[in-house]
Amino acid sequence: MRLVLLGPPGAGKGTQANQLSQHWQIVHISTGDLFRYHLAHNTELGQSAKEYMQSGRLVPDNITEAMLKDRIAQPDVLESQGFVLDGFPRTVPQGLALDALLAARHERLDRVVLIEVPTDALVQRLVGRRTCSVCKANYHVQYHPPHVEGICDLCGGSLIQRDDDQLETVKVRLAVYHEETEPLVSFYRQAGLLATVDGNQDPVSVTAATIQAVKGGSHD
Ligand code: ADP
Ligand code: ADP
Ligand code: ZN
Repeated sequence: MRLVLLGPPGAGKGTQANQLSQHWQIVHISTGDLFRYHLAHNTELGQSAKEYMQSGRLVPDNITEAMLKDRIAQPDVLESQGFVLDGFPRTVPQGLALDALLAARHERLDRVVLIEVPTDALVQRLVGRRTCSVCKANYHVQYHPPHVEGICDLCGGSLIQRDDDQLETVKVRLAVYHEETEPLVSFYRQAGLLATVDGNQDPVSVTAATIQAVKGGSHD
């Protein structure tokens, strides 16, 4: 199973990709997480991505595509039943690059799921998001609080707020989504791959709707 989750920042891509990777035993690949790993380890790649990420803009396609190409060639991906991409592609050129990468392996995407959530709810989700500094699990101060404030339920790590989840940067990211990422919706609709799910419901219902859509329920 090879899936792409498409949707604005805060739509729940990371939350859902986690569930879907367990459901189908496939690898969850988040380009945001990969960039944050490089940033935290101050690698060359991290240094070139830093300014873009902090300002809420997209990292240039050539850098992002090279990172993704490297990731999908790693053994865990090659040995698994597929992957769920969370946060890639984010531009039409990235979508074309992904097609080419997969075609070279005689593979193709099975489905692209667009998770739709109204803008006001996205802002609430992003400014309230907290992330485990150790295992990267996601929480929300209201919608998904940890049992003990500031502490990860899963590993006991401390929860932090991402720099780019400040309101001003959130606004930039939402604008960037509309300008650069939204054209992928018609790109994938034309390719016959798109399914849309209502992401403005509880996470368990979104997962169920997504699995249904991938199995062929609702084609756009
Ligand atoms: P994305 O990867 O698309 O940016 P996340 O999965 O990180 O989105 O979710 C953003 C925030 O919203 C997180 O704090 C998460 O806990 C919360 N969240 C995710 N899904 C839902 C949902 N269905 N309802 C309410 N809050 C949610
Ligand atoms: P969110 O889950 O809120 O949508 P991500 O964690 O996916 O955010 O991405 C965080 C940041 O990493 C983005 O704002 C962008 O700077 C960079 N990034 C992640 N994926 C890509 C991509 N495919 N192309 C360019 N930049 C990316
Ligand atoms: Zn944790």
